[in-house]
Amino acid sequence: LAFLEHLPKVELHAHLNGSIPLPLLRDLAREYASSPDAATTTSDDILAGVQRLQAGEAFTDIDDIFSVFPAIHALTSTPASLKRATGAVLSHFLDPPTSDSTYGSVASVAYIELRTTPRATPHMSRRVYLETVLDEIEARAPDAAALIVSLDRRMTPDVAQEVLALAVQLRREGRRVVGVDLCGDPRAGDMTAFVGLFRTARAEGLGVTLHIAETSGNSTAESKELLSCEPERLGHATYLDEEAREVVLARRTCIEICLTSNLSCKTVQQLQDHHIRHYLARNHPIAISTDDILPFRTSILGEYALLLAPKPVGLGLTESEVEAVARMGMESRFRNTLS
Ligand code: 5GP
Repeated sequence: LAFLEHLPKVELHAHLNGSIPLPLLRDLAREYASSPDAATTTSDDILAGVQRLQAGEAFTDIDDIFSVFPAIHALTSTPASLKRATGAVLSHFLDPPTSDSTYGSVASVAYIELRTTPRATPHMSRRVYLETVLDEIEARAPDAAALIVSLDRRMTPDVAQEVLALAVQLRREGRRVVGVDLCGDPRAGDMTAFVGLFRTARAEGLGVTLHIAETSGNSTAESKELLSCEPERLGHATYLDEEAREVVLARRTCIEICLTSNLSCKTVQQLQDHHIRHYLARNHPIAISTDDILPFRTSILGEYALLLAPKPVGLGLTESEVEAVARMGMESRFRNTLS
């Protein structure tokens, strides 16, 4: 454990609203229940979702995971609650493990690129959403954290365009926006409308990472289209076909690997079948990441422990192999990030 704790690690694939530490979620849920919002927007689904998270229930598959995000979003729909959520997520990942931080760091990372999808709510615009998250990142961890702005596959073209424009604008204003992401329900949306936006993002100097081929239902045509944007990194990339894998290997595109997430969503049936093996065997860049610590009940330490633990519980890597993997993550940060 000491080896993993002291290993310099980065977190490159963590969704803000999926990474809220449970104690804060409980506080937010309690406060939400007595807020005016609860009277107007509380639905049984939201209450049920929060209760499941509080109970630490396991999720059955990817549909089940996606059903719980509206509940979390209801709790972070004001600038004040979003600021607290961002602060707690940063503390979780960055505070030294020995400190008695309120929201408990398990093993800190040296650097985090946190991602989130800006939402317009009755209490804030998308711009205020992003400014709130950025204010917290810049105040707490100016050298150790940066923001990736997520575009959700379910966004209308107009909203996606607006979100990209915000990312570009905030970066030009000198804010710590380092990239954009494509996330959201893998079965939704027509990616043709997004491709131009990711090309613009690259031309503007933003890093691009795309959730791709996350489920068996994602078509090879879609993956090809997304790869045509030449993203620097890919999220999951579980079901890439042989041709797409060749492209990824040739370009040395970093694959963000979220082991527990893939097992929990059942997009990978067992650890020994995970596509990480394909990339490890070829010394191809990967970044070990958590995805959503809240529903998946994992931590960066837990993800690295899966690499090191003997088979069949883990992948049985040696310490020096794990060190090499951690270095790959470090080298896969979006440029223009660390000072
Ligand atoms: P947020 O962007 O609100 O901070 O974080 C939650 C959002 O991240 C979810 O609504 C969803 O769009 C996205 N997300 C979280 N986990 C996953 C995942 O495993 N796959 C995909 N495609 N999107 C995810």
